Amino acid sequence: MSKISFVNNPKPFKTLLDERIQAYFQDRNIEMRGNALLYSKTIILLVSLFTVYGIILSIQPPTWLSLLLCALLGFIQSTIGFNVMHDAAHGSYSNNNRLNNIIAWIGGDLMGGSTFLWKIKHNIIHHTYTNIEGMDDDIAKYPLFRLNEHQERRWFHRFQFIYAVPLYFFTTFNWILFDDYWKLVTKKINTTEIRKMSVRDHVEFWTGKLTNLTLFFFIPIYIFGFWQALFGFFVMHAALGLSLALVFQMAHAVEEATFPLPNEQNKIENEWALHQVKTTVNFAMNNPVISWLVGGLNYQVEHHLYPKISHIHYPQISKIVKQTCDDLNIEYNAFPTFWRALVSHFRYLKQLGVA
Ligand SMILES: [Zn+2]
Repeated sequence: MSKISFVNNPKPFKTLLDERIQAYFQDRNIEMRGNALLYSKTIILLVSLFTVYGIILSIQPPTWLSLLLCALLGFIQSTIGFNVMHDAAHGSYSNNNRLNNIIAWIGGDLMGGSTFLWKIKHNIIHHTYTNIEGMDDDIAKYPLFRLNEHQERRWFHRFQFIYAVPLYFFTTFNWILFDDYWKLVTKKINTTEIRKMSVRDHVEFWTGKLTNLTLFFFIPIYIFGFWQALFGFFVMHAALGLSLALVFQMAHAVEEATFPLPNEQNKIENEWALHQVKTTVNFAMNNPVISWLVGGLNYQVEHHLYPKISHIHYPQISKIVKQTCDDLNIEYNAFPTFWRALVSHFRYLKQLGVA
């Protein structure tokens, strides 16, 4: 597919928004990147992860409790993904790029998923071509899922709202064990070719994969035996995969989001920022617990407009974004609660399965 572009000249929405957002940071004299709050969150989450990991391996609790702790391990990994890796991979964790890369490796590669591939899949493809059929890899789950009206409907899609949850369990299991390697071999992510990997990219990729499997699979095999270790590994990934799939889907695959197509000149007939607002939905913005856990991914509108600003600032700048949308008569989509977004996602899957 040739390159899709946006009608960005003029761009009244982004111009006005940039002015207001810049003024916000300048007036308060604060950095757009992460701060002590984000760094303390990183420590809390990593310490929690390795504490639970240590308890499973050293105390070896009864099977039911071990499996529960494996699920908790997966859930904590997802919060590290949302809060730590996601910011770092976008370069919004710190002004220091070396620190961003180290933190992205710890939060990404060490957890099993290649940040080299993530940066192309997520930062470039998903963030530029959000919800554009044929480009955005996040909606390329066909034929298993029909995620927008431009994909052909098959008979089994009527059941997709039911089989979604069991398949979401496999999200990261598939990602770290198969999908990353498939992308590496085919040198492609959906329709986009990936750049050549440097020696350093290879070192980061392979050390991450090896350390992850050693920590979460090989050492448990040594202690518990193969089948128990495999089961624990799968339970951990079921919790991790479900959390990641739901949080990412709830921002774009819901009734309120749109899926625009380019015109004959391969142009999306909106300025890029407006396209982001039309394809993205927030949820539970007033819930501090959800906001803390999902690392501002409930403020996806702000994240899509400003991925280089740390999620720590989203609750504050969301007021400016909302006001600017109101001033320019642009619809700002937000579900009041987590549950409303969740219900909308499954209702959306059901609708697309039958019509
Ligand atoms: Zn992002």
